[in-house]
Amino acid sequence: MKAALLEDVKKFKIGEIEEPKPDNNKVIIDIIKTGICGSDIHNWDTGNPKGLVMGHEFTGKVISPGSRQDLKIGDRVTALPISPCGHCEACKTGNPQYCKETWTHAIGLSLDNPGGLTKKIAVRPDMVIKLPNNVSDEEGAMVEPTAVGLHATHLADIKVGNKVLIVGGGIIGLISAMFAKLEGAEFVAISETNEARGKKAVDLNVADEWFDAKDTNFLKNIYTKMPNGFDIVIDCSGNTNAIASELMCVKAGGTIVLVGISQKPIEFASVIAVMKEITLKGSIAYTKEEFKNCISLISNKKIDVMKFVDDTVPLSDTQKAYERLTSGTDSAVKIMVDPNK
Ligand SMILES: [Zn+2]
Ligand SMILES: [Zn+2]
Repeated sequence: MKAALLEDVKKFKIGEIEEPKPDNNKVIIDIIKTGICGSDIHNWDTGNPKGLVMGHEFTGKVISPGSRQDLKIGDRVTALPISPCGHCEACKTGNPQYCKETWTHAIGLSLDNPGGLTKKIAVRPDMVIKLPNNVSDEEGAMVEPTAVGLHATHLADIKVGNKVLIVGGGIIGLISAMFAKLEGAEFVAISETNEARGKKAVDLNVADEWFDAKDTNFLKNIYTKMPNGFDIVIDCSGNTNAIASELMCVKAGGTIVLVGISQKPIEFASVIAVMKEITLKGSIAYTKEEFKNCISLISNKKIDVMKFVDDTVPLSDTQKAYERLTSGTDSAVKIMVDPNK
């Protein structure tokens, strides 16, 4: 079957991979939609590992239920793409994101478990979740990134009336901004280097204002608006300069949540963090509870994630979609791939 394989630095090729075979354990899923994730961009940037089939955000139809007796052929499902061991302390306390095994065999992030940039995938039965009928295919593929934003917002511990700055207006930034408002933030700002994305955050009504991070007066503009600084900053950029300036933007006693991933060490003036008694927190993935929460929030119409979906493209346009998402000028934040298109 056809798949988009990572071939080189910023390069995919459409090639053939073997179809997964039913083994009475794994659930075989026929992919309907796969979202392209910001974290996939890191692999794309480096071209590593070669042959990787990405796509860890997906909706599909069950072709073979494996050991999941409650599922039947044709059921629409999504899944947590992670591979926690299930028996360590982290797993037993409901925090699979801390498990050492979580990323080892993750779907779309490891060579042994191809993701949704192909027609059919095999998924661990305990990670598969059936979608309610009123959750669309696209919404199902949005659950995973939505859960990343929810987890970050939970860790940010936002209080009613807080002022929140989200750094980076990609999909995780926009979702975090949406949840910050739901948590009762009085003012939510987004900083972005891409003007189209900054404006979009305001147009979509998830941010009250956007700040141009490329502007040489960026910090001055922030201080004018928020002289005492923001209560909470959520970093969705993983950028060293951005994180250094976040220490200046957060108020004394405030919190910075790091969601964006940097492959390189980050340099910042730790003295500022000390003098301002800043709390720095990392945020990775989600708990199973948060993942399920997102499905029910979507199903119960408490959140609208479809406003973030920009486009759906065929598998053959995967390369173009990645180029669009990294252009620095295009407003797109979420592009879905339909392998049957
Ligand atoms: Zn993702
Ligand atoms: Zn574990």
